[in-house]
Amino acid sequence: MGVSAQSARMIPGPDLILACPHCGALSRLFTLASSDAEGAISWTDGYQHFPLAPRQPNIVRCHACSQLHWLAECREVGMIDPVGMTPAEGVPRFASFEKAEQPEPGTPPPDGWVNAPQMQSLDESGYFAALNSGLAKTPEQEIELRVHAWWRGNDRFRKHEGTGRYPTSPQAVENLERIIVLTEGGDHEFVLFRAEALRQLGRFEAAEEALYGLCSDYALAREKATELIRAKSRDLEVLFA
Ligand SMILES: [Zn+2]
Repeated sequence: MGVSAQSARMIPGPDLILACPHCGALSRLFTLASSDAEGAISWTDGYQHFPLAPRQPNIVRCHACSQLHWLAECREVGMIDPVGMTPAEGVPRFASFEKAEQPEPGTPPPDGWVNAPQMQSLDESGYFAALNSGLAKTPEQEIELRVHAWWRGNDRFRKHEGTGRYPTSPQAVENLERIIVLTEGGDHEFVLFRAEALRQLGRFEAAEEALYGLCSDYALAREKATELIRAKSRDLEVLFA
């Protein structure tokens, strides 16, 4: 094993047990006790993939009532050993956030906790549904959900080298148009989203203009974006890996 295999680590923490704010159904959410940025890939759309540090979802769909909600709206019920991490001879350890008195070691956890399914991240259509159902209460939340819809739509282009790696569906194009409006006059991260959205729509002149004024901290991203704009490329690319 090489040095990198030894240094790269991702250690699971306990699963959180969370209750749906609509119906109270329980779900599990993974946590990480330790993670590692090794193997990270940054893309021109601003998405960063960390194979050893997966992100928790921001919006989830309840497995019981199918309603969408922000993760932060869930009630925190407790925590439990993740599936596969239970000691060979024994029951999963667990702790309640709602009872002061904790169970004796070896007490079996409630069935509803053991059987609670793991929360899943939304896909592109899930984020469009979240936007349509009014989950974005502020412009910042709308940008967050629209950028996630864009990223999940772009995921299909991250694994192949062919051309045409940019959004084309009417809904995805409209989403980019809205990101361009919402990020006007925003800070540096928003400038990059805006320039990339314009580039992926093929509006190269506006994309290059959008990059003006980006500070030197973003020199690498600006250089790559300018290179792609001048080559009249609309394709999603790796920024650095
Ligand atoms: Zn529910």
